[in-house]
Amino acid sequence: MHRSHMPKAERELRSRLAKLVHEQPLLRGTLTVRQVTCGNANCRCAKGDKHEALYLTYGKEGKPYQVFIPRHLQDQVRGWSQNYRSVLELVEQLCDLCQDELKTLKSKGK
Ligand SMILES: [Zn+2]
Repeated sequence: MHRSHMPKAERELRSRLAKLVHEQPLLRGTLTVRQVTCGNANCRCAKGDKHEALYLTYGKEGKPYQVFIPRHLQDQVRGWSQNYRSVLELVEQLCDLCQDELKTLKSKGK
């Protein structure tokens, strides 16, 4: 379908999706905060007051991976992860519109 003939809702969805895909970093995975010890026997964490560490966990080709995210990159990585979730959400909404379109085409016959 030509862009100018698209319903407004679909055009807006595609435009938001394109913007994300063209311009933004995308990271798939789940961000989880873990309680960890640093290995220093004299540190507070050795007595049970553990440090919080952020990890990105994801699966690829059936294998699990986890990546430690240093504090200075946490906000950035949360944004990249949110971008990915937004892309999935927009694709899902676009598929819903296309399901509707398919129904309409079917009801019109050949
Ligand atoms: Zn420690």
